[in-house]
Amino acid sequence: MKYIVSQALFAGFVLASYFAIIIFRKKEWKYIENRLFFVFCISSAIWSLGFFGVFIQTVPDNAYAWRAVGMIGTFGYLISAQMLICYFSEIAKGYRYFFDGFSLLGVIIYFFNIQKEQVTYHPSSIGMTYSFNPGIWNNLYTAYTVIVAFNMLIVIIYMLRHSTTQRLKVLAKKLLLSEIVIMIGMILDTIFPLIGLAAIPGSSISQFLGLVVIYYTIIFVSHSRINISNMSEFIYYSLTVPVLVYDSKYKLQILNDTAYSFLGVDKENFDITGIEPLFTPARENIFNFEQKSQNVDAVCCHNQLYCSLSVNKIYDAYNDIIGYIIIVTDLSEQMKTMKKLETAMEEAECANKAKSTFLANMSHEIRTPMNAIIGFSELVLKEDINDETRKYVEDIKWSSHNLLAIINDILDISKIESGKMELVLDSYSTVDFLNDISLLISQQAEKKGLTFNMKVDTAIPKVLYGDKVRLRSVVVNILNNAVKYTQKGSVSLVISILKQTDEYVTLEFKVIDTGIGIREKDIKKLFNSFERFDQKINYGIEGSGLGLAISNSYVKLMGGSIAVNSVYKKGSTFTVTLDQKIIDFEPIENDYNNKNYMSSTGGMSDMQISDVEVLVTDDNAINLRVAQNILKHYGLIVDTALSGKEAIELCKKKDYAMVFMDRMMPEMDGIEAMNNIRTISSHYAAGGNCKMIVLTADVIKGTREYLLEAGFDEYLGKPMVFSQLERLFLRYIPAEKISYGKAVEK
Ligand code: ADP
Repeated sequence: MKYIVSQALFAGFVLASYFAIIIFRKKEWKYIENRLFFVFCISSAIWSLGFFGVFIQTVPDNAYAWRAVGMIGTFGYLISAQMLICYFSEIAKGYRYFFDGFSLLGVIIYFFNIQKEQVTYHPSSIGMTYSFNPGIWNNLYTAYTVIVAFNMLIVIIYMLRHSTTQRLKVLAKKLLLSEIVIMIGMILDTIFPLIGLAAIPGSSISQFLGLVVIYYTIIFVSHSRINISNMSEFIYYSLTVPVLVYDSKYKLQILNDTAYSFLGVDKENFDITGIEPLFTPARENIFNFEQKSQNVDAVCCHNQLYCSLSVNKIYDAYNDIIGYIIIVTDLSEQMKTMKKLETAMEEAECANKAKSTFLANMSHEIRTPMNAIIGFSELVLKEDINDETRKYVEDIKWSSHNLLAIINDILDISKIESGKMELVLDSYSTVDFLNDISLLISQQAEKKGLTFNMKVDTAIPKVLYGDKVRLRSVVVNILNNAVKYTQKGSVSLVISILKQTDEYVTLEFKVIDTGIGIREKDIKKLFNSFERFDQKINYGIEGSGLGLAISNSYVKLMGGSIAVNSVYKKGSTFTVTLDQKIIDFEPIENDYNNKNYMSSTGGMSDMQISDVEVLVTDDNAINLRVAQNILKHYGLIVDTALSGKEAIELCKKKDYAMVFMDRMMPEMDGIEAMNNIRTISSHYAAGGNCKMIVLTADVIKGTREYLLEAGFDEYLGKPMVFSQLERLFLRYIPAEKISYGKAVEK
């Protein structure tokens, strides 16, 4: 019994030191409460050790020294406890400074309170004890301890009443408990000696109990702080994707709330342990794999939803598999979106088809009347008319050509945009190609008073393979622009070989003008559809802003490129570079410039044909008259038919050298009529003497191929291009029947 108090105090010292070591080893100094608690533990240990020393003394002088040590712990304990409680309470800073500041007064009191005359020691049955001698410092000490205890109580009550979170309220309750324990002890050894009773080291023992309570409070605080262990749990439950955890024996161990709702199972009555009742692929397909993780496509058995299982192995410290985490990705929305996309694509394709059909029809519908307008104006111009009328008709012809060009451009750009544009590849004569261009542009340049220079590398091979029509339209368009946007000076075309191999020749077409030039900022926009610049300066110049956009697309389609160099107000240089396949390697040399070739888009030449009978069939009476008159102007003997049937009947009676057949006609269309005519005799049969030429306003991709495959010998677009018509004559009519001279009135 004698040593029980001293033993208890020593035990308090050991345990307080142990707590101090635990906190020290945690090394979490960034948290203020840990720093304060460390001081608190050390103070508690000193307190217990000091009073243990007092109790085991037999000589009062020694006891005095031990008490002086113990009192350091007492004051340190009270100050750190006050600060700790204030810190936890989140009380306003002003109050905190007041309470903390008051507790620090203990440092002053300490020095007076440890004076020898303050305490009288007397041995007792439980060891050396003491009582306070009356005096101001003892009274002040007692008042100090009571006020500090009271202050702590106020702060704790404040916490209890004002804390907004449940966590702080629980914390306050724990602190209140430790405060009560400490206070009971204080009464025993601070108040007792004050009223003359022998001090029982109650506070020395209870302070230790208080320490234990605060230790658990600190643990509570650290648990409610964000850290790896509690976070993983929070993350797991807060995941909005279904997560299932299986052990190494493939038994289901944990699943989060999202998994329950995804699987459509009831949390309370859930007793599934395997994987197969939940997902369709067999167990071995899900769990047997080499790598650390794998993705498996699956179907949830409960709701038949498509999902992807991301199966990840869990390893222990010895690298043995202890389980699997399965993260489920719901693919049902994706599947729905895919279905929607498929439907949207189908709809888009339908819309695209509708657009193509519309384009085909529109092109046909607009080109047919255009055919009449252009054809008749051409015919009227051949008549003997007065100058004023001639001027009007020329304007009609000119505007119609412009309108037709715009229609063609719009049609082309729509085809390019819908990806329907395809190249029509064929072999062509380089010289023809060059002469076509030169004839056309030189006329235009001449009209405007510009010099047109053309310099061609005569080493260019004679026959090339490519899309001649598109290539010509690109070069002509750029040259046209050069003429259009140049007021005075010259337009030059330089064609040179950049490279030549056994198969290809890389050609460069340089168009140089001394025109208005293009601003640097506009060059970037040059190839955009409907983009035109300097509208004020260019007022009156025909154009839609589509030409270069189309040319650029054509060149790209042909695997080439266009570059532009321009100095504003000085002139521009457009350079087209592209490859063409070589068919005949012989250089053009002498051929070029020596022969007289026809213009490709110019008007009728003075070609005259004698003694050749042809038949023209068209359900449109106006078109029929246009075609009839054009053909007559060449000296041909022309019969007409307004329907396929009529044409068949006429063919039965006569052997025509050529039959021009409109493709689209009511009742019997052009193809059917042609097939019927083919059966009439060997003259009309395929490969026979009669050439069947289909007339169509359709310029949609594949039309030409389709019609030639259907059995026609040739294809002629509407409106008729005279150069093409004349080429047909040159090809199919014997040379002796063709002459050049003034038209003979028939
Ligand atoms: P369009 O000539 O029908 O307007 P383009 O697409 O061919 O359309 O040309 C677009 C614009 O580029 C023209 O409107 C013109 O402002 C400018 N441009 C084209 N070529 C030249 C050039 N050689 N010199 C000056 N400006 C040009």
